[in-house]
Amino acid sequence: MKDLSRVVHRPSVSHEGFSSLAVPTYRASTIVFENAEEYANRKTRGPDGYTYGLHGTPTTKTLEAQLTALEGGERTVIVPSGQAGITIVFLTVLRPGDKVLIPDTAYPPVKGFCVNYLEPRGIHHEVYDPMIGGEIDALIDETVKLVWMESPGSTTMEFQDIPAIVAAAKAKGVLTGCDNTWATPLLFKPIAHGVDFSMEALTKYVGGHSDILLGSITVNEVKHHRALKDTTRMIGIGVSPDECALALRGIETMGVRIKHMGEVSTDFARRIREFPGVRKVLHPTLPDCPGHEYWERDFAGANGVFTVVADPIDEHVLGDALSSMKIFSIGASWGGTHSLIVPMSISRECSATPGGEDGVLLRISVGLEDKDELWEDLDTLFKTLAAKRGAGLAAAQ
Ligand SMILES: *Cc1c(COP(=O)(O)O)cnc(C)c1O
Repeated sequence: MKDLSRVVHRPSVSHEGFSSLAVPTYRASTIVFENAEEYANRKTRGPDGYTYGLHGTPTTKTLEAQLTALEGGERTVIVPSGQAGITIVFLTVLRPGDKVLIPDTAYPPVKGFCVNYLEPRGIHHEVYDPMIGGEIDALIDETVKLVWMESPGSTTMEFQDIPAIVAAAKAKGVLTGCDNTWATPLLFKPIAHGVDFSMEALTKYVGGHSDILLGSITVNEVKHHRALKDTTRMIGIGVSPDECALALRGIETMGVRIKHMGEVSTDFARRIREFPGVRKVLHPTLPDCPGHEYWERDFAGANGVFTVVADPIDEHVLGDALSSMKIFSIGASWGGTHSLIVPMSISRECSATPGGEDGVLLRISVGLEDKDELWEDLDTLFKTLAAKRGAGLAAAQ
């Protein structure tokens, strides 16, 4: 081979005797075929085969297989983000004239997608009270084709009666999907409860280090896999094997990370309850958490993410107190090694759940830092807020 060919065509080296514990990162756009006939017949390889880099490499398929095994499903599809995991299920299942039921407490961009993308295309949605349980039956008319769940709800932490909702949907032949990002398959297995699509933002606990964006959809039937792969192929959606390699690395330590974060958050939740000005702590181990009994019945434990509801306080005072925390950072997304805290506002247009909290909601994601230092930070925060509230009251009198 001449040099100009040699620079393109490398010699192949033996893999014999090479056995590594790491998953190789296989990058590819082109997949080459043995001969022209194989290329011509590539469609017969189906959604499990290799045909083009966009549709998967051994790295992406290893992550898919790992998640399928953990979720107890039949197949998994990896997509570029958690949000894409939700929208791809909706786009696959729903046709014009159909309706999807979504819980009021769903990850907020879900409602945005329904209102701003699906509705103008003739696909409808109805928002339901996350604590509806089996009474969801009354909302399932003949146009409903999908019931979406998210347990617990983003920020407000409602654990849903998933078995009751699934039973009502199944009785009418309607498909169900569940956002399992909070629990991960280590704490809850939707497929075992009859859910058809178990979606997860791998961005959070699976990645675990705040450096990737990925989502997954695990299904209980091969036909749903084929339908999802048809959607991603037609829209042109694929994922980078580099991101999948990071997810495969992250997932190896997910068990110890979640166990530790769950223990620390459980302890913190109990102690935070004692501060003046704290109304309640929405942590699954505490009875104040809506659906606490369903968590006890269906889930295997807690993780590091929970919410504190505190008395109202001036926005700037709160901002200053949060900004002066030493270990906690302020930022969205959660489930990483760095502890996070964010003030959340719960504004619900067309709300199915009246009322809501008028206080301050602080969402906390416990990371892996020194527990005592984390507590010092929280102790200072809640004592500062209590003191400022007291001073505010005194000044007003
Ligand atoms: C973060 C999150 C998502 C979206 O994940 P991205 O990868 O950021 O798109 C979806 N659902 C829940 C519950 C989440 O917390």
